[in-house]
Amino acid sequence: MSTAQPRLKRERARSREIFERAEKVLVGGVNSPVRAFRSVGGEPLIIERGSGQHLYDADGNELLDYVCSWGAMILGHANPAISEAIAEQARRGTSFGVTTELELELGTLITRAIPFIEKIRFVSSGTEATMSAVRLARGVTKRDFIVKFEGCYHGHADSFLSQAGSGLATLGIAECPGVPAALAALTLNVPYNDLKAVERVFLQHKDKIAAVIVEPIAANMGVVPPEAGYLKVLSEISKRNGALLIVDEVITGFRLRNGSVQELFDIEADLTTLGKIIGGGVPVAAYGGRAELMDHVAPLGPVYQAGTLAGNPLAMRAGIAALTQLTKPGLYEQVTQLAQQLVFGLRAELANAGIPAQINAIGSLATVFFTPDPVKNYNDAKRSDTKRYARFFREMLDRGIFLAPSQFEAAFVSAAHTVQDIDRTLAAARESLEAISSDSAA
Ligand SMILES: *Cc1c(COP(=O)(O)O)cnc(C)c1O
Repeated sequence: MSTAQPRLKRERARSREIFERAEKVLVGGVNSPVRAFRSVGGEPLIIERGSGQHLYDADGNELLDYVCSWGAMILGHANPAISEAIAEQARRGTSFGVTTELELELGTLITRAIPFIEKIRFVSSGTEATMSAVRLARGVTKRDFIVKFEGCYHGHADSFLSQAGSGLATLGIAECPGVPAALAALTLNVPYNDLKAVERVFLQHKDKIAAVIVEPIAANMGVVPPEAGYLKVLSEISKRNGALLIVDEVITGFRLRNGSVQELFDIEADLTTLGKIIGGGVPVAAYGGRAELMDHVAPLGPVYQAGTLAGNPLAMRAGIAALTQLTKPGLYEQVTQLAQQLVFGLRAELANAGIPAQINAIGSLATVFFTPDPVKNYNDAKRSDTKRYARFFREMLDRGIFLAPSQFEAAFVSAAHTVQDIDRTLAAARESLEAISSDSAA
């Protein structure tokens, strides 16, 4: 039953004061744009610490966290085994610039869980992983074009910023100042979940496409799962045309199961990128695939890629501690079940409030789109009422529930969340949606 949800301390005075000072030193007061809350309004959060499913802001407010550092914290914040591993490594040294056995250990955990990754290279961010995978694909195929999907995000490398959604994007015209038009023209954007568009682009650029890069479950336009058979046929089209398939699992890797989601869709990428979860909350990402392909990377091959802090021992220890815990039987079932309770409950609350919305969900990923129509691609997603999302976000935050500060992001459930958390979230959602429907009535 719905009980009145505790409100945050109204005055987030200290947070506000810190943010005001941050704006003078950091661009927009942040180090990554969405953190500035521009699309939802209100005061950006300033976090002091995290524990399990909770974050604590600079004013001491406790928040139930569904952002989970954009999915990285699948075991919750300050997971004891991860924290202990990091502390122990810190005492032994934090960076050597030469190989440690830890890199082999994390590499083995990953290649065991994802057998079609025979060899792997660690980098420090998802952006580096996708950028390097594309370079490798171009180097191996000796072709220049890549295909990406509107609304899929692969980090901020130049090739991926010819943005999704507009007519310009399909022409590969740079929308982000600073991306050379000549480079943007090599990125071909097509709608997600549309195989005919992929066939067309391969016809138009015969023998010129090096790679197709895709999020197997799109989660950066809000959650948009692939339609039945989509990824399988996409992989066949790529292969038939001599292009490599790069599956970007920076979000999905170790998110739905202990390994890749590609098994669920009966595909095996030529190259797979990983990030977020594999670092246990410390900067780690990776790309990998068949040995015969990866052996084109330096020092074995001519495709150059390097990193001063790549394979960093602190990060490796955190990753090992995270992935070791993810092998626990039943863990993914439990997280998925909680996410399902949340999704079913939210659907019921939305229906009760008479608010048209779609919830796209799979595993422990979910997005509430405020639109009456199904969301299967970026154009559908963009029809959502983002003002209403912003309102919902602020009402929920007022009740101590931290959702993604954008309509076009996923909510993440972690292994630290509980049934009580879901109940509390649903009660807060009921109050929030009541508040929203009363202002639309007014
Ligand atoms: C987060 C993300 C990236 C970029 O990773 P960073 O570590 O932020 O550079 C790339 N691809 C996908 C699918 C992502 O979700």
